[in-house]
Amino acid sequence: MPELPEVEVVRRGLDRGISGRRVVTVEVGHPRAVRRHVAGPDDFSALLRGRRITGARRRGKYLWLPLDSGDAVLAHLGMSGQLLVVPSDRPAEKHLHVRIGFDDDGPELRFVDQRTFGGLAIVRDGADVPEPIAHIARDPLDPEFDDESFVDAVRRRRTGVKRALLDQTLVSGIGNIYADEALWRARLHYARPTETLTRPEVRRLLGSVRDVLNDALAAGGTSFDALYVNVNGESGYFDRSLHAYGQEGRACQRCGTAIARVPFMNRSSYFCPVCQPRPRVRRAS
Ligand SMILES: [Zn+2]
Repeated sequence: MPELPEVEVVRRGLDRGISGRRVVTVEVGHPRAVRRHVAGPDDFSALLRGRRITGARRRGKYLWLPLDSGDAVLAHLGMSGQLLVVPSDRPAEKHLHVRIGFDDDGPELRFVDQRTFGGLAIVRDGADVPEPIAHIARDPLDPEFDDESFVDAVRRRRTGVKRALLDQTLVSGIGNIYADEALWRARLHYARPTETLTRPEVRRLLGSVRDVLNDALAAGGTSFDALYVNVNGESGYFDRSLHAYGQEGRACQRCGTAIARVPFMNRSSYFCPVCQPRPRVRRAS
C-alpha cells in the first residue's frame, strides 16, 4: 500500500507533467476503474473533456486534480493503482484502464491498476478539497498542519501511540512502515499509552515522523511493493534506509539488539526491545 511519501512523489510528477493542460480525449477501458463515479463512465468523460487540469493536490494518501470547472478528479490508488504520464505512442500497459489525452499532443495521463481496487471519480465542486476526503486530517508535511493541536489531541486520546499515528482523523499519511520507523527514531514503544506521553515527547515524535517522511521523499519513496512507481514508472529506494520495519532479527542500528516483530492490527509492529522499552503499565495495544 503506498504511503504519503510515495503518493507525494506521484503528486509532484503529476504537477510537473499535466498542470495547466487541457483534456481532449478520455477513454475508459474498464468501467470498474471509474465505479466510484456513480453517474457512470460517459458522465465521467463528459465532465473531464475540454477541462484544464490546474494542478495536482494531496491530502494524506489521496490525490486529486482540480479542474478549471471547479470540479476535481479524485484518485484512489488502492493497493496497486498507478498514474503515469507517458508519451501517447507508448504501447498500452497490460492493466491500462483510463487514458486521458491533451490538446497539446504531449504526454498522456494513464491510470493503470493490476488489482482494480483503485479508481478515478469526478467530484463536483471538489477543486479545493473533494468532499469524500474532507474528514481526513492534514498530514505532518502540510504547511497548515497545527503542531500544538496535534500534541493536545494525542495526549487526550486513550490509546497506544502507534494507533494514534495510524488514525487518519488525527493525522493523515502515516501507514505501518513510517509509523514503525518514526517510533524507532523517537525511541517509543508502539503500545505506549498516549495519555502518558509528555508534550516534549509528542513534539519529538512529530519531529521523527517528519524526518522519516522527508528522508523517504528524498529517496523517491519505498519500493516495498514492486507495484509502486512514480509517474515515469520508476521505483523508490528508501527501503535501503529502513531501521525497524521489515528488519526482524537484524541488529538495531543504535544498540545492536535484534529487532522484534509482533502482530499488530492484522499486520506487524517492528521495534527494538531495548531502545523502545515496553511501557510498565500495560494496556491493550
Ligand atoms: Zn536498539
